[in-house]
Amino acid sequence: MFENLSAKLSQITRKLINQRRLNENDINDFLRQIRIALLEADVNFKVVKVLIDSIRNEITDTNFSKSLNPGQILVESLKEQLTMILKSDDSELIKSNNKCSNILLVGIQGSGKTTTAAKLSFYLNKLNQKTLLVANDLVRPAAIDQLIKLSNDNDLDIYYDKNINDAIKITENSLKFSGNNQYQWAIIDTAGRSQLDEKMMQELIAIKNKVKPEECILVVDSMIGQTAVEIANSFNETIGLTGLIITKLDGDSKGGSAISIVKETGLPIKFIGTGEKVSEFDKFYPERITSRILGMGDLQTLAEKANEQIDYEKAENLTKKITSDSFDFNDLLDQMKSIQNMGSLENIINMIPGINLNQMGSKLAENESKMNKMKYMIDSMTPIERRNPNILNASRRKRIATGAGLAPVEVNQLINQFNQTKKMMKSLYGKNGRNLNKLMKSGNFLK
Ligand code: GDP
Repeated sequence: MFENLSAKLSQITRKLINQRRLNENDINDFLRQIRIALLEADVNFKVVKVLIDSIRNEITDTNFSKSLNPGQILVESLKEQLTMILKSDDSELIKSNNKCSNILLVGIQGSGKTTTAAKLSFYLNKLNQKTLLVANDLVRPAAIDQLIKLSNDNDLDIYYDKNINDAIKITENSLKFSGNNQYQWAIIDTAGRSQLDEKMMQELIAIKNKVKPEECILVVDSMIGQTAVEIANSFNETIGLTGLIITKLDGDSKGGSAISIVKETGLPIKFIGTGEKVSEFDKFYPERITSRILGMGDLQTLAEKANEQIDYEKAENLTKKITSDSFDFNDLLDQMKSIQNMGSLENIINMIPGINLNQMGSKLAENESKMNKMKYMIDSMTPIERRNPNILNASRRKRIATGAGLAPVEVNQLINQFNQTKKMMKSLYGKNGRNLNKLMKSGNFLK
C-alpha cells in the first residue's frame, strides 16, 4: 500500500533518523526530497506546497541544537501534517436508530464498487449486523452475477431481480424487502459509467431521493492518480457524498491521491480496500496510514487481524496433534487458511515495521505460490491420505500430481517440506506443548 511514496519516504527518513544534528542544508535537502516524493506519488501540488510550508515553519521554531534526534522531529512533523489532512470526526458509518440504514455505493466503472459492496457486507456481518446486498448495477452486464457469486461464496444475503430493468423500481422493492426482514443495513450497488455521464448522474439522484440513504459513499480506485480528485469533486457536487472508500491500495498505486482527494473535498475516508478478497478491507485509520506511508509499519492492524484469526481452542488441539506426532494435511490446510484469511502475504508483511517489501518482493511471491501449490496438492488427496501422510507412496503421489496440475517432483518436494515443517514444529513447541503455551501467553498483547 502507498508503495511508491512509502519506499521513497522511508529511504529519506531512515537516513535522517540516524543523524544527531541537522544543518540548514540537511533541512533543505529533506524538504526537497519530501516534495519530490509527494509529487511523484500523485499528491496534488497545492497540497504539497501547504505541507512543505507548514513543516518548514515548524522546523524554524525548533531548536535543533538541543535536540537529540532532529531527524525524528522532522519525521514526526511530516507524520502529523499528513495525519491532520486525513483525520476526520466522521469516519464511522452513519446508522439510523429505528430502521434499516441504507448505504448507497457510487463510482465510475471499474473502481471496485461491486467488490466493495460485498466486502462491506462481509465486514458488517462479522460484527453481527444483519446486512442485505442490493444488486442494482443494471448497466455492466456481469455486475449482478458477480454480486450473486460473491454473496454465495461468502454467505451474504442479497436482493436482486433480473426481470426488472428499472433501477428505481428495484430500489423501491429492495427497500420493502429490507424493511420487512429486519435488516440493519442495506448496501446498494449502483451502475457506474464515466463521471461525465449525465444520464447516470440523473439516475443516481433519482435513486438517492428514493432511498434517502444514511450514507452515500464514493468508491475510488487509488490507481487512477490525479483524476480521482476530479471524479470525487464531480460526484460530490452533483449528488452529494457522505464519505469515501479508497480501493486497490495494495497494488503499485500512487496512494498520494487519497491525501489529495480528502484535502480537496473535505470528505472522510471510511474504509480502504487492500486486495481482491472480501477480507482485504479495513477501517480507515489516518495514523496507521501515515505510519505506513513513512515506512513505520502498521502493527496495530496486523495485531487485530491476527487476533481475528486465532481460535484458542483450535490452537490447543493443534498443540496436542503436534506433540503427539499426528499433525496431518487437514491441520496444515487449516493453518494455511488462517494465514490466507488475514489477506495476502504481501499485505501482512507490509504492516511490519522495518521490513522493506521491495527487497523481499520476489521471495514473497514465491512463498505465496508455494502455499497455493500445497493447497492444490492437499485438495487432490483422498480424506484417508490427508489423515495419513505416511501412506503417500509413488503411485499415490503421481495421482495427486496429476490432480493438482503439478509435476511429480513438485509433489515430492512439498511432501518433504511438510515432513520437515512437522519436525521443526514439534521441536519448537517442545514437550507437551509447553513452548506453545509460552508463545500463546506472549501473544496476549494481541488482545
Ligand atoms: P465496479 O465496476 O466498480 O463494480 O468494479 P469491480 O468491483 O468489478 O472491480 C473491478 C476490479 O477491481 C475487479 O477485478 C476487482 O477484483 C478489483 N478490485 C476491487 N477492489 C480491489 C482492491 O482493493 N484491490 C485489488 N487489487 N483489486 C480490487
